[in-house]
Amino acid sequence: MVISKNKVVSIDYTLTGDDGEVIDTSEGQGPLYYIQGIGNLIPGLEEMLEGKKIGDQFNAVIPPEKGYGNFEEELVQQYPRQYFEQIKDIEIGMQLQANMGDEVRIVTITKIEPDFVEIDANHPLSGVTLNFAVSVKSIREATPEELEHGHVHGDGGHHH
Ligand code: ZN
Repeated sequence: MVISKNKVVSIDYTLTGDDGEVIDTSEGQGPLYYIQGIGNLIPGLEEMLEGKKIGDQFNAVIPPEKGYGNFEEELVQQYPRQYFEQIKDIEIGMQLQANMGDEVRIVTITKIEPDFVEIDANHPLSGVTLNFAVSVKSIREATPEELEHGHVHGDGGHHH
């Protein structure tokens, strides 16, 4: 069986940035389970995984446009300071959940002034070239229920 759309796949991976610093890894927390072809992973990684089989290992260099997007200046915005009065110990670098349209985004506080607070809604990894080392651990068919929910059930997935 090879990886193709609607397969449940588990991978071990290590993600490093351009400076070689480890950003994220499955090491110590078990493989990552996902469903191929439905946007569970960033597009560049799904592309690299397509057609791979169990035991395959590879490195992938993924540019921002196939990763978490390019940094967009217009996603950095300033809001009146009083909007943030509820937040205790507000500080630069603090991350908040914000409702933007119909999606919840993690935003980062980038500036705090007496009359405004600046928020960056870019993904923290936007504009970053991602270096993945991946090994494929398992592949199986997704169940109809998993496809309906858009996520993996059972081992490494949701239990509900
Ligand atoms: Zn579910």
